[in-house]
Parts: sequence; structure tokens; C-alpha cells
Amino acid sequence: MTRPNLLFIMSDDHAAHAISAYGSVINQTPHLDRIAANGMRFDSAFCTNSICAPSRAAILTGTYNHVNGVTTLDTHLDNSLWTFPDALQDAGYVTGMIGKWHLGHGPGFDPAGFDEWRVLPGQGHYHNPVMLEADGVIVERGGYVTDLITDDSLDFIDRHADRPFALFCHHKAPHRVWEPSREHFTMYDDLDIPEPETFRDDLVGRAEVVQAVKMRMMDLDPIIDLKSPVPAGLTLDEEISWRYQRYIKDYLRVVASIDDNVGRLLDDLDARGLTDNTIVVYTSDQGFFLGDHGWFDKRLMYEESLSMPLLVQYPPVVDAGSSSDEIVVNVDFCPTLLELMDVEIPSSVQGRSFAPLLDGSAPDDWPQSMYYRYWMHHDGAHDCPAHYGVRTKTHKLICYYNDPLDQPGAHGPTEPMEWELFDLVADPYEVNNVIEDAAYADVRLELEAELSRLQITVGDTAYPPPSARKN
Ligand code: CA
Repeated sequence: MTRPNLLFIMSDDHAAHAISAYGSVINQTPHLDRIAANGMRFDSAFCTNSICAPSRAAILTGTYNHVNGVTTLDTHLDNSLWTFPDALQDAGYVTGMIGKWHLGHGPGFDPAGFDEWRVLPGQGHYHNPVMLEADGVIVERGGYVTDLITDDSLDFIDRHADRPFALFCHHKAPHRVWEPSREHFTMYDDLDIPEPETFRDDLVGRAEVVQAVKMRMMDLDPIIDLKSPVPAGLTLDEEISWRYQRYIKDYLRVVASIDDNVGRLLDDLDARGLTDNTIVVYTSDQGFFLGDHGWFDKRLMYEESLSMPLLVQYPPVVDAGSSSDEIVVNVDFCPTLLELMDVEIPSSVQGRSFAPLLDGSAPDDWPQSMYYRYWMHHDGAHDCPAHYGVRTKTHKLICYYNDPLDQPGAHGPTEPMEWELFDLVADPYEVNNVIEDAAYADVRLELEAELSRLQITVGDTAYPPPSARKN
């Protein structure tokens, strides 16, 4: 059997709860739902650091951020490091990277492991973007970024359809500042999008540093983010609701373009007869708060931010319409795809292939917990605290160690350590921090031990690091 192709579609900040296959109550995504209907939906896929560059580095290298060095937005991926596109290229695949890279540019940081690449500089623009290619070539494009990235992806497939290919189609959308295409500009104009269950969360009982994050509706810039002055005469509650509608409608319009364009790619594979021999992945580098807890953005270890959408279609292996709620993380993507593509997984990879989950079963020793670490501290805009934690199938323990630890892009002040503990079964929306609840004392001890075990397993260092410890 010939090796399968790979079409890896990754968007930027697309939360699973804005995909109808995941039960969205705010939008419909018929083409993303096609991947779910033809393949497997992962319901417990998590990022190990909920921010763009670190998640991308974890996916490409199969390692945690303290290993690959991309801990914050101000760190770049050393392109001499091994990545799985390197391995695919060595194995004879033609490899392509189109769209958002966001792991640095120039010598030492340009995309590597790709026969062809055309990427956005930094965050890139939604309309008429400039794109970069090898050797410093700058390409000026006319049009809408999600359409253009798809056009280039279709062109890549057209030129390489006769040999095993691995194409990374990385959308800028739906990253802030959510500029829709002309086709979707007035979508939802006549609707009110429902506010999420926790929209008016007062955050009482949560860590003080969590209560202080600048990710509330009132932290959105009316002109840049919401593209409108605030109407006069609104009460505070009314203004918060108005802000949400402005924000979420543009977010969903931008998502609608992704969905349309995923449809174009799926149609193309169908028309070429490639669907049965192509692994199609749809994911996003992390989740996003869609008004949940009153927030936008990501970074925190709360469910909406921690969760990644993950849809995998590969008809010879994956049953149509299946799902898994086994825990998988972004570090696992690389070994999984290598296994499916029959390419050797080097021992440096820390992730574990979840290919065995694709038939709907799970090995007896499949992990029951995952490790998370957000290294930035007071980035100057969102003011999210540095933290790490563990999530099991039933609980989540978060330690806000609140120290920038000299990480690039992380700043002071250092603050006292705080903890949160959530019972995800009794409290799926994470509004009741039970860290001081005596009824959870045993659970806390178990999770602290599990957190330590995971840190040792992945080779990370508990806080305070040895260099900062007294005695
Ligand atoms: Ca992102």
C-alpha cells in the first residue's frame, strides 16, 4: 500500500465550542462536521501551553516547551531542531507549509523541513496579506487570507497529487482582530448570539491573579477589536452585552470562512479520488474563551482555552462518525502522524502516538492525566499569571507560581503562589474552586503527587527552581 498523504489543517484560536460537530450552540460548521462525520472527534484533546508559538513548536517537535525552547511568544523555534516534517521529507514525502508560521523568521528560524513554504510574517494580515517564501522572497497577495491560503494549498495538491505529500495548511483565522471576508460581513446581523453559561461569572473564589486578568469584554478595544464606538447611554451590563455581540459575531464570521475553505479542500480530495489515501486533520493551536467567564483570549488552563478541537479523517483506519474522550495532547500529534505514515519515531519525541485510539479502543496503560505549563507572566496586555497544572478525567489542579523566571516576554511582579482545584464532574464550568475544601483534601494530595510525577516524567522543574531555592 502506498503511504498516505497528510493534509494537516490548523487554525489559530479556533475553540472547539465554535464547531457544530462539538455541539456548538452559536454557529454551524457543516464542512468541519464532514471531517467528524467521516472520521473521529477527539473530546479530550489538550494543548500543553495555551498560546500560539509554543503550541506550534510542541506539534512540530513532539516535545514540551521546556525542551524545544519555545516557552513564550517571545521565543522562536531553532530550525536546526528535528521536526516531524523533516522526517517526512527524509522519508520521501513532498512537504509544504502554507499560511501562519509564527515561529520566527530569517536565518535560523525560517520554516525548515519543507520543500515549499509560503507563510505570513508574524501574525499577518486578513486582507491583501504579504507572504514570505524561501530566500527572502516577498509575495504581495490580493484577497482574503483564508481564501488565499486555501488557494495555495489547492495549488500545492494539484502539483503533487501523484506522489505522497504532506501539506500543512495553517490559517491565521480566527485570531484577533477578527476581520471577516466580504462574503460574511453581514452574517448574523439579524441575530443575537447566546451568551455563554458563565458570561457573568464574578470569579469569586478563584485565584486573585485570575480575577485580575485583562481578558474581559471591557478590555476589548472598541475601535480596533469591535470596529465601532460604544453607543451612548448604555448601562455597564448593556455595554458588556453589546461588546460580546460585536466580538463574537466577527469571530464567527471569520470561522465561517474557514469552514467554507475546508469544504473546498475536502471537495478537491474527493474529486481527485484521494480521500481514502489522505489523513485529514483539523485542529487549532489552542482553544479560546468565547465570552466564557466573561473573557476573550486563551492562556489560562481553564477548559475552553485548554481544549483543542481535533478531528481526524482517514477512512482505512478510522470509523466514520466515531469519537474518543481519551486524553491526548499536542505533543502526541507528531508521533501519531509518523506512525500512520509509517515513518520511524525518534527517541527524542516525548509524545505518545494515539494511533491505537483510532479504532475506538484504548491501551490499558493509556495516560489518565496531562501536564500543562504557561510560562509567560504579565505579558503587558492580558496579564495572565505563570502557572502549571494537571488535568485528569475528573479533576484539575492549577498552581499559579506567579514568577516570570526570566522567560522572554514574561515580566514582574512576582506574586505569592496561589492554587485552584476544580471537580470537573460536579463543576464542569469551573466556577467553584475547592482548593480549601476539606472534602477534597485527599484529592488535592493525589493531584499534587500526580503533578510531581508528570513533571519528573517530562523533565520539567517544579517551582521554585533549584537556583531560586533557599537552603
Ligand atoms: Ca493561537
